Amino acid sequence: MAVVQEHEKKEILCKDWLSKPKKLLIDGKWVEAKSGKTFAVVNPATEEVLCHVAEGGKEDVDLAVKAARRAFEHGPWRTMAAYERARLMYKLADAIDAHADELAQLETMDNGKPIKESRGFDVVQTAETFRYYAGWCTKLEGETTNVNSNFFTYTLREPIGVVGQIIPWNFPMLMLAWKWGPALACGNTIVLKPAEQTPLTALRIGELAMEVGFPEGVINIITGFGADSAGEAISKHMDIDKVAFTGEDKTGKLIVQASTSNLKRVSLELGGKAPNIVFADADIDAAVRGAITGIFFNQGQVCCAGSRLFLEKPIHDEFMSKLTDRVNKIRQGNGLDENTGIGPQVSKEQQERVLKYIDIAKGEGAAVACGGLVPEDQKKGYFVRPTIFTGVHNQMRIAQEEVFGPVLAVIPFTDMESVAEQANATAFGLSGAVWTADVKKAHKFVSRIKAGTVWVNCYNVLDPAMPFGGYKTSGYGRELGKHSIELYSNIKSVWMNMMD
Ligand code: ADP
Repeated sequence: MAVVQEHEKKEILCKDWLSKPKKLLIDGKWVEAKSGKTFAVVNPATEEVLCHVAEGGKEDVDLAVKAARRAFEHGPWRTMAAYERARLMYKLADAIDAHADELAQLETMDNGKPIKESRGFDVVQTAETFRYYAGWCTKLEGETTNVNSNFFTYTLREPIGVVGQIIPWNFPMLMLAWKWGPALACGNTIVLKPAEQTPLTALRIGELAMEVGFPEGVINIITGFGADSAGEAISKHMDIDKVAFTGEDKTGKLIVQASTSNLKRVSLELGGKAPNIVFADADIDAAVRGAITGIFFNQGQVCCAGSRLFLEKPIHDEFMSKLTDRVNKIRQGNGLDENTGIGPQVSKEQQERVLKYIDIAKGEGAAVACGGLVPEDQKKGYFVRPTIFTGVHNQMRIAQEEVFGPVLAVIPFTDMESVAEQANATAFGLSGAVWTADVKKAHKFVSRIKAGTVWVNCYNVLDPAMPFGGYKTSGYGRELGKHSIELYSNIKSVWMNMMD
């Protein structure tokens, strides 16, 4: 008799929803793509097609931008009382909570991530991000400045206009919230393109937004592809005032080039190759757990993943033995199974990319301490075992290029000076971490590291109130916190002549 897997016993809450046609959201209505084309969305754990989704292109982007422009210039959104905008955002957050289990399953089936994470992290953070920015609606302020008694001078904080938002597949609903939250709080209107690999939770949250009463045209969703398609059309569009992008650094450069069409504002959150540095005086067990969260959370598909683990030499062997012990025990499988600790990569393409980097690391002379292969018992799905390389030096490709998968490069070090230099010797600068019991050492290190986020004795801690973004090729602009309000608003200086 065939063994029934844990996840096969689960009631799939979004089954009915998946069976219905998946269209574009333009001007408050769900419509097919002008081309009539659709594309398949695949469950990376089973390789089954979950559903087909409308493939939006340039023409559809044009229609969405028209709707967003009309909603911005003439709709009630920008002019309604700020508390009314806030109320809608709170309602959306409540609707997300009310559909938490369904959204978590959908995210897991679409992206592959463990359901414990979808439910405990993605859904929670998505709802809380909307609540955080709902609070901002009523706190946007200009200033008065006493420059000259002949003039009454003040500043107004105004929305930018129509914003294009292009998001990736690693945290589909959370990236949507990071983008929509501040954009909506400031009174902008939106054209969102989810990643082609993971468009489903955006569509479901789009439905919830319509149900709670967002005005037509404020939120538009175009599912589709990037290059030569909907994504490129957004980045080039002459009537989009700002584009926000999260994704690969190579794509980020293309977005910047395309933005020159009308010099639209650009904010970018790109890749990383974060150093995770453990000094000999650290709490080793906590640092082992932090190293695992740092690299294997979300199957290593995290831009701030701690993909370079620097270990001070005296603790190297003890640390490695504790680390590999734990990593070998991580349960891998279908994310819907409550016991799954790590799921599949998001797509076949990503699985191949990760396996290619594993071959490159082996070719460079790094040694496999664990993993390094596709799990033998997985017949279907895009799985790669959590992999750790030792004997890495910082110039190797495995230490310089973003793998975006569950692959950790371990580099021994001898002193703070050399580790700080190596930590910064990368094109990226999104994040880093240091583990030490010495507060002075921690503070010194924090100021040395060129990165937008530094964690001390922790890893991957996030909150909607704390800014997130990169130095160097990890991008520019800060999302989250009050800083994202800067990305989505303009300041107008007003001079009023008071002379008689
Ligand atoms: P990945 O290669 O990991 O999928 P990308 O940076 O290519 O990462 O994708 C992130 C997002 O950018 C996706 O929504 C994708 O469709 C979009 N995208 C990809 N290429 C372009 C492009 N040339 N112009 C605009 N958007 C793009």
